[in-house]
Amino acid sequence: MPRKRPTRSSANRYVDEASMKELDQIRAPLYRELEKLSKETSYQAGKDSHLCCTRKYNQMRISPLEARSIAIAFRENPELRRGLPAVLDRLEESLKGLSDNGERQSFDCPLLEKGKCMVHNIAKPVGCLAWHPRQYSDPEGEYGFTGKGWTAFASRDGLNDKYLGPDWKLRVIPLWLKRVFSREVNYRARSAEAGGTGARRNRGGKNRGRN
Ligand code: SF4
Repeated sequence: MPRKRPTRSSANRYVDEASMKELDQIRAPLYRELEKLSKETSYQAGKDSHLCCTRKYNQMRISPLEARSIAIAFRENPELRRGLPAVLDRLEESLKGLSDNGERQSFDCPLLEKGKCMVHNIAKPVGCLAWHPRQYSDPEGEYGFTGKGWTAFASRDGLNDKYLGPDWKLRVIPLWLKRVFSREVNYRARSAEAGGTGARRNRGGKNRGRN
């Protein structure tokens, strides 16, 4: 009997599941490293632990599969889903200062809420997991990536090649969020143009969430 050919959506689901599982495997040692380091009293040395998520220090770029992982987290986690309108408000602000290219650029991360990373235990990008104060990473800088981080970058890049081919791009986080939340972003833009409910909701949430 001929085998049933997978439909496009079942093939996409397979790619999503397989790539996300492999991405989790790449992140796992970094989560363990972060947990271990953050137990040391000198780890942050009095610094705000998410200082690096704000414009002054932040130029973090991520890959398309890391962005997809964030989108899936928002789709599947009700608490995150409830926070999405505020993320979109912050995203709109972040995008104003960015050019749409693959360059490093400074930005306030829209996923920083009340001083915490919204996707910390779920879908944190590899670079964010591997970025540590210099005594644990780059001896030349204030902060830097650990050896485990560099290994994870190589694996992450190979994973994106494997599932997306060689033409994918690293982009700063807001530029990838704009893409993975394009439906929501476009809906809000259309609603704002029409002066409809999206615009009203947007105005209501304008001042929330920037910390
Ligand atoms: S994803 Fe999280 S850790 Fe990374 S810059 Fe954004 S808020 Fe910070």
